[in-house]
Amino acid sequence: MSSVRTEGMNERAAKPEKGRTGTRRPRPAQLGDIRQQNYSTIMRELMHAGPLARTDLATAIGMSTGAVTKLTAALARAGLLTRAPEAGPTGVGRPKVPVDIDESTYGVIGVHFGLHRTITCLINLKGRLVDEVHEPHGTTGFEPVVRGAAAAVERMAAAHRVGILGVGASTGGWVDSASGQVEHQPVLGWRDVPLAQELRGMLGLPVVIDSHVRALALAEHWFGAAMGVDNLIHLFVGNVVGAGFIFNGRPYPGARAVAGGLDHLPVAGASGEQCDCGSRSCFKMVAGDLEVARRAREAGLIADDGEIYDVLTLAAGGNGAAQALLRERAELVGRATATLIELLDPELVIVGGGVSAPADHVAAVRETARAKLDADRFRDAGSLIQASAFGPHAVGIAAGAVLLDAVYRSPEVFVPALAGHEAARAIG
Ligand SMILES: [Zn+2]
Repeated sequence: MSSVRTEGMNERAAKPEKGRTGTRRPRPAQLGDIRQQNYSTIMRELMHAGPLARTDLATAIGMSTGAVTKLTAALARAGLLTRAPEAGPTGVGRPKVPVDIDESTYGVIGVHFGLHRTITCLINLKGRLVDEVHEPHGTTGFEPVVRGAAAAVERMAAAHRVGILGVGASTGGWVDSASGQVEHQPVLGWRDVPLAQELRGMLGLPVVIDSHVRALALAEHWFGAAMGVDNLIHLFVGNVVGAGFIFNGRPYPGARAVAGGLDHLPVAGASGEQCDCGSRSCFKMVAGDLEVARRAREAGLIADDGEIYDVLTLAAGGNGAAQALLRERAELVGRATATLIELLDPELVIVGGGVSAPADHVAAVRETARAKLDADRFRDAGSLIQASAFGPHAVGIAAGAVLLDAVYRSPEVFVPALAGHEAARAIG
């Protein structure tokens, strides 16, 4: 992480946005940047490996024990770290007192804007779900939906005795995290709406937004199935399809914030419905939940108004035809996954959405991909594809992860006590 990047994040989290290009001004590294990077490194290591004795922490991150002791003391005073229960004397010298991320002083709120409902959740600094509320919004208009979400955030904050460090928000479609703008959310009909700025204005809290696939990738990276993995793909196949990329530990949005769009990836097979691009072989048309449900209806497996959930229920109950439909979809996803793996050579691919609902279908994705991949280059193909770590709570937790990612990268920006007067002013 460079200091330039860190500075960009500070401004992004603390101030209203002016435009897509106005937020990343390079400047020389300053002492505060280095301290902030050290705070960030310590918190990151503890998130992944804590609790750790300070000596072990120092070894793990290549810092002196003295420096680690000083920095962890400041983080503990600020409420970000806690002393873990004593591990007992180690035999030589002082007993090792492990430190860990404090899970009870602070939390972050995640907000996911779906088609029918807004999900609001509170997660702690280790990403654990504390509370979650689903509220139908009854309308898709931007203003009322965001007002409703802000009210839900305030209720959530009032119901828990933790300091709220900020709000992470996610939705489907084209979301530009850098500008805080939802460029296009086709399902909700939102275009060019300043989501981060609106929420920030209503709540007076730092707000960071991102697309739901990148949010999911971040959640897996920080505290899910890809914990500590710095190069990963999160492939989401549900009502919508798309991939979220994390490269070198950072989300990769692309030049226009649209990286990972797989809607029109041509795949083998044809949908009964035509894509808006004219083809019947687009990934979203052939592999999406809607197509699985359509085919199940066509085969008379489910009622005329039946949905993907009905297919999943049938399959879980042992219906062979429903299982075959889901397996076929999983194999198709497996072939597409092999293409993504060859193209980007990730450490791990996490599969989420409807395709991962029955766990054995992730195995089908994996086996199909393995059969296509070069056995020499991809010797680890058997473990390269994993299911998402989050069940039905994935999208809410992932929205929170968008903010948590920013907190872990720049803790001083979010916790004034850590930074002293300078950062306190920046947040206000
Ligand atoms: Zn298409």
